[in-house]
Amino acid sequence: MNQYASIIAPELIRFTDAERERIMHALDLAVTAHGDQKRASGEPFVIHPLTIATRIARVGLDADTVVAALLHDIIEDCEITPEKVEKEFGAPVRFLVESVSKLGHIRYSAEQRKVESLRRMFLAIASDVRVVIIKLYDRLHNMETIHHLPPEKQIKIARETLELYAPLAYRLGFGELKGQLEDLAFPIVYPEEYKWVVAAVEEKKSERERYLKKIVRILERELEQEHIPIIDINTRAKHYYSLWKKLLKYDMNLERIYDLSAVRVVVPDIANCYSVLGIIHKLWKPLPGRIKDYIALPKPNGYRSIHSTVIAEDERIIEIQIRTKAMHNAAENGVAAHWAYEAAGKTSHARADADQVQMIDQLREWQKHFKKATSEDFVETLKIDFFQDRIFVLTPRGEVIDLPEGATPIDFAYHIHSDIGNRMTGAKVNGKLVNFQHPLKSGDTVEILTQKGKKPSADWISYARTSVAREHIRTALRRSGVHLPNPVHLKPGKRTIEISVKGLNRKGLLKDVSQVFSDLGINIDRHASEKVDPHVSLMHFTISYFVGGRLEKLLTRIRTVEDVREVTFVKRD
Ligand code: MN
Repeated sequence: MNQYASIIAPELIRFTDAERERIMHALDLAVTAHGDQKRASGEPFVIHPLTIATRIARVGLDADTVVAALLHDIIEDCEITPEKVEKEFGAPVRFLVESVSKLGHIRYSAEQRKVESLRRMFLAIASDVRVVIIKLYDRLHNMETIHHLPPEKQIKIARETLELYAPLAYRLGFGELKGQLEDLAFPIVYPEEYKWVVAAVEEKKSERERYLKKIVRILERELEQEHIPIIDINTRAKHYYSLWKKLLKYDMNLERIYDLSAVRVVVPDIANCYSVLGIIHKLWKPLPGRIKDYIALPKPNGYRSIHSTVIAEDERIIEIQIRTKAMHNAAENGVAAHWAYEAAGKTSHARADADQVQMIDQLREWQKHFKKATSEDFVETLKIDFFQDRIFVLTPRGEVIDLPEGATPIDFAYHIHSDIGNRMTGAKVNGKLVNFQHPLKSGDTVEILTQKGKKPSADWISYARTSVAREHIRTALRRSGVHLPNPVHLKPGKRTIEISVKGLNRKGLLKDVSQVFSDLGINIDRHASEKVDPHVSLMHFTISYFVGGRLEKLLTRIRTVEDVREVTFVKRD
């Protein structure tokens, strides 16, 4: 036992003796390997991996992830080889540690700002969500200790946190972590705005707190009278950064932000959630259009709860959030909560109410993918959710290029520039020469070799996966007098789908709906809008046919856009 063991020990109770022993062994190795390395703060370096591992153990992840968190910086910073990590802790830990190190090398270029593709890239390379979780907690601790760095570095890191890490945390359902990351970065990136928001909130804080206490008391009394089993009623203040983002939309008028503080009601099961909603609406009038049922229609990141904005005592407007304990844990700790529940299921025999059964089914799915060390299936699952058949590869300078699955070096070359494509003589993937039809994978670094005066050949057309590349090749061939056999076949049976969306007339509705398409990487070929009456508008979108579950996902997401009332579609040949 070393002097640091007592910091993590309290979080390890749920592990088996063997697991605890491995974790302690990893801690020993980390202590020895980091030796007397120091952080910029002057603290012993090992405090950094230890803090991360302790938090990861607390949110319920498995022993391998805790071990990997302890070792996450030793390949980079110490003389420890990946082989040694594998020998002592097994291949899955080596995989996690190496992947975390690799993610550190992705260049985040400010000019490029392709944050969305960077985010996908990140997930694709990670290929195991536990890698991203370690990376997120790594970033959290780095943000907490950022004041020891020079100002320019602080700004760069904080900006990256706002643009890449916080959205990633949100995507994976780590609501609390996302809020923490943003609030740490906010004062560094936008110091003036931060001061303004804090001052504005502080001004009426104590009065607001008194009022909310009163609301909680009334609610407690009312729910008890109706025999609702209450697990918890609490209030939560909105995180500063998300408040500021919202203020920007509402003329910086704090009075218009109804969820500045929200009241949360936590009950045992879904049936009680709806009972609570009914009781609250009997007590206080709901604002029309502000009841959001994310239980029936969860947010894309899996968030579930019922929100309603009501006119409460003294005619004041407040937001109330109703959820089960499982939903609450999931909202705070995202995918980690799934882990924790599965683990709990093994030891305790909690009553399996309808809600938990559903949760556990969902977990089983996750768990199945988690179990495999390399977990190719898991990548597949993530792809469905996050990548929509895209791959993300790197230029030698670390720029992220977004291509369709199955793309080859030819697509890559033409994506960079038609001249690069036309002059291509060869390609290297991760430093090794490959042939032109070599399918690229997410995370590959691709380098194109060129020669002046080189011309494309006709068989390249069949190697290209993107129409951009094929078009360029044809043009170049025609220009150099090559006779192309019959017009290269059109894509067989290309079909289109027409989607009609009916919704309440509101400025920004079209934008919100269009956003769903672009979030899913789906191009809109044609669009038209009409007003049915002063309150209702009808929008038509035409898109090209695409396969499988994506249509279902698209329709579901459009349905969750605020003020959308009806979504229908027709397939056309
Ligand atoms: Mn680190």
